[in-house]
Amino acid sequence: MQHLDAFFKATAKTCLAPFHHQLRQTLAQQGEHGDAGSWQAALAANLTYCQEPVESWDFAADTIRIGDESSPLLPDDLIMALHPWRKGPFMLRGTFIDTEWRSDWKWQRLSPHISNLEGRRVLDVGCGNGYHLFRMLGEGASLALGVDPTMIFNYQFRMLQAHLPANQAWLLPLRGEQLPACNCLDTVFSMGVLHHRRSPLDHLAELLRFLRPGGELVLETLVIEGDDQAVLLPRDRYAMMSNVYFIPTTQLLEAMLAKLGFQHIRTVDTSHTSTDEQRATAWMRFRSLADYLDPNNPARTLEGYPAPVRAIVIAEKSQ
Ligand code: SAH
Repeated sequence: MQHLDAFFKATAKTCLAPFHHQLRQTLAQQGEHGDAGSWQAALAANLTYCQEPVESWDFAADTIRIGDESSPLLPDDLIMALHPWRKGPFMLRGTFIDTEWRSDWKWQRLSPHISNLEGRRVLDVGCGNGYHLFRMLGEGASLALGVDPTMIFNYQFRMLQAHLPANQAWLLPLRGEQLPACNCLDTVFSMGVLHHRRSPLDHLAELLRFLRPGGELVLETLVIEGDDQAVLLPRDRYAMMSNVYFIPTTQLLEAMLAKLGFQHIRTVDTSHTSTDEQRATAWMRFRSLADYLDPNNPARTLEGYPAPVRAIVIAEKSQ
């Protein structure tokens, strides 16, 4: 975890400093993933290919651009060594990484509704490869910290960062539950994570403890239609995902947030996930949403549940 020394240095004078010791201990306990050797090799190969960081980039565009056509082109296999590329899109030194998800669409849905990120310290719990961390920097965040326990996504982030000059986006290979309650961040995002948690109220309570008084929560998760007492608890899989536990209505989600003491709670968007937003591509060759819907009735999943609908709910921690 030596590469994370830079994170500790960069946050030595922030409100996270009192938690450095605890974070270092937790990180030291993380085991290495079985595939880490080949991912490490891919990272090292990137660095030998392109020893200088890029001179231009754009984090504020739908396709995050790192370098331009004048940068030395990376061989596709070096990028494919970190397959599957799920979140994006990215243009990396002139190569378009067409990811499984149009993560820019989610950003478009939420960005008109959130507090201006200029100068804010932001946390993204379950940030995947960090696509949205870069978008946060693009909107002026002074710190964009992400956590995600899936190691391949951590390596993708490191590959992207390896081509960039030092910046304030960081990704720690941790679960949200492993982060200390710092009560000091300005905005906390949790997107696509709540339905993967066995204990959704605990997840929301944890997010509350990352925020400073008056800080803003941006929550995005799967929802179903219905009243404030309705929830779908998939018996087994949901859209072939084995780890989906809890799909509430937006009304129930709002009621849960209110019960925990959040204020100014509002659902700002509810959208069906289309097979244009989530699909297999050359950079994500596994199956994707279209394969998980009932071929005779795309309004249902293969298991007969309502097809995915996602909501964005914004709330504040009281002063
Ligand atoms: N936030 C991104 C990615 C969503 S995919 C987006 O909205 O596009 C869900 C992510 O949550 C995965 O990358 C998965 O590794 C991560 N995840 C699953 N359980 C988690 C937990 N307990 N804490 C933090 N992240 C978790």
